[in-house]
Amino acid sequence: MGRLTHRSAPLLLALMLGAAPVWAVDTDRPQQSSVAPASAPHDLRHPGKGPAEPIGTYANGCVRGAEALPADGHGFQVLNLSRHRNYGHPDLIAYLTSLAAEVEREGLGILSIGDMSMPRGGRMKTGHASHQMGLDVDIWFVLDLGRLPPAAREREDFATMVDVQTQRVNSNFGPAQIRLMKLAASAPNVTRIFVNPAIKLALCEAAGEDKGWLRKVRPWFGHAAHLHVRLACPSGASQCEVQEPPPEGDGCGEELLSWFQPPPPETGPPAPPKPPPPPPAACLALYGEPD
Ligand SMILES: [Zn+2]
Repeated sequence: MGRLTHRSAPLLLALMLGAAPVWAVDTDRPQQSSVAPASAPHDLRHPGKGPAEPIGTYANGCVRGAEALPADGHGFQVLNLSRHRNYGHPDLIAYLTSLAAEVEREGLGILSIGDMSMPRGGRMKTGHASHQMGLDVDIWFVLDLGRLPPAAREREDFATMVDVQTQRVNSNFGPAQIRLMKLAASAPNVTRIFVNPAIKLALCEAAGEDKGWLRKVRPWFGHAAHLHVRLACPSGASQCEVQEPPPEGDGCGEELLSWFQPPPPETGPPAPPKPPPPPPAACLALYGEPD
């Protein structure tokens, strides 16, 4: 048993409680589980057999019966295939293929798909606190990369949409990105889309009277080069813990503006990091099944 060195546990906890800055969701911080299952989920290469089912929460769960998103399809390409993170619940596969087809039909470009989940979901060794149930996906905002050869897909240094000095979107963020956001949010089973506050602000300004869809668009630290889409628990998925819906309203007022205020000064030493909670027993069982 090694010493616990997890540093983003308070964040994980806050994530599960549904209220937290999510700046660590997509960092490259190592993630370690406090429990050593038969196999670590990041070592597994095949989905678990059986009907598709997300289990647990977005930040502490797994998925049975996941499917792989193919490396290429109409209007999309998957990046960083070597990570084996292009797996998801069939709802996520259906969502992405439909969104990408719409993007292609409208001539917006091609979707570059980042991390989804690992073959059985679970806590990743690096990168994300969530993405554990096969219902989260990162999509890069750049739409004009063209179809990349495999060797050129192992990267994530794609253009940011935000000027850090002014805290506003830069010229990379244009009508195609605005349209992508609206298309991405319009599927009924999308519950949240995390983007940088500057991007949410730009959407609030561009939306005019049509602001209802912005409720799902949640300001979050980071997320300046990609959007992070989260789907709802599928109907009938009894082991999938439903997250609170976003607050009422379009979120374009006070709440959004608070993200641009400097944080209050620290009053004392930071709380010591806590280890992440152990995975649900059903996930440990899933990781123990033959690969
Ligand atoms: Zn993400």
